[in-house]
Amino acid sequence: MVTVGIPRALLYYQYYPMWKVFLEKLGAEVVVSPPTNKSILNSGVTRGVQDTCLPVKVFFGHIIALVGKCDLMFVPAVTSLGKKSYNCSKLIGLPNMARALIPESPPLLAPEINCEKGRYNLYRNIYAVGRYFTSNPFKLKKAVEEGWASNLDYWNKMSDEKITPLQAIDGKLSTDVNASSFTVALIGHPYIIYDEYVSHRLISRLQKMEVKVVTPEMVSQEELDAATRRLVGVPHWLFEPEIIGAGGYYLETGVDGIIIVAAFGCGPDSMMLSIVEHRARESEIPLLPLSLDEHSSEGGLVTRLEAFLDMVKRRKRVCV
Ligand code: SF4
Repeated sequence: MVTVGIPRALLYYQYYPMWKVFLEKLGAEVVVSPPTNKSILNSGVTRGVQDTCLPVKVFFGHIIALVGKCDLMFVPAVTSLGKKSYNCSKLIGLPNMARALIPESPPLLAPEINCEKGRYNLYRNIYAVGRYFTSNPFKLKKAVEEGWASNLDYWNKMSDEKITPLQAIDGKLSTDVNASSFTVALIGHPYIIYDEYVSHRLISRLQKMEVKVVTPEMVSQEELDAATRRLVGVPHWLFEPEIIGAGGYYLETGVDGIIIVAAFGCGPDSMMLSIVEHRARESEIPLLPLSLDEHSSEGGLVTRLEAFLDMVKRRKRVCV
């Protein structure tokens, strides 16, 4: 049986259930890299060029962690999912970067997902992946349909049950927020906020501080898209709904505070952050921007978090 490695980084948090079902239905065995740790981060950092953002360096570390454990590495280039909105250039160029910087990697399975090029191109690229495993078109069609169905289930489950990708994939993290005294929206790319090593266990840390944490995936895609349109009109970036849309939605529906976590040096993040920051100031809702890179210290993050939560608590006491 052919073994396919999926790095536990970047788009893993959005599409892993779909990719897993698709590949397994084709007859592949899927192996996922372990959760990020110091050695994965360090090995990725040694391969990234200077202006590579932290999440991409982490991704390289996960590819290295899978070397020797799989026959093929799944690294799709998700360029556009339609409506003229595009992914960041680093995500689009991921297969090329991976081939150049990690030559010891097994061959990449790297379909381009670009809805802007039309359905025919999309189907052709997906079917090219399928042909690695089967020449039976019916098996391939079924794998595509079941993969897509599991993707819809995954996103509906998160927004209906108000859970995070980690809970939906692994059943991880406590949802017991009965003791919470206030609600904070944690906003950022899934590959930052749900990677516990990169985010310094931000979600569980906040929950231990008796904060109810709400995240972008707990809102339906329709509501995120509508909130994005109200704030900026038609989005240019594929991920605007998860940052700008979620920020706008939670500011409109009312939370006690917002924490936005961005990758240091990320151009799209800095623009999206300033839009949400501006709206938060108008709404008089406290916002804490956090910028992470491989040098970010846990101590510094905790100090800022505590100061922010003190302010949120004081404000809440004054307002009630
Ligand atoms: S959007 Fe920002 S954080 Fe994400 S891959 Fe691109 S540069 Fe990195």
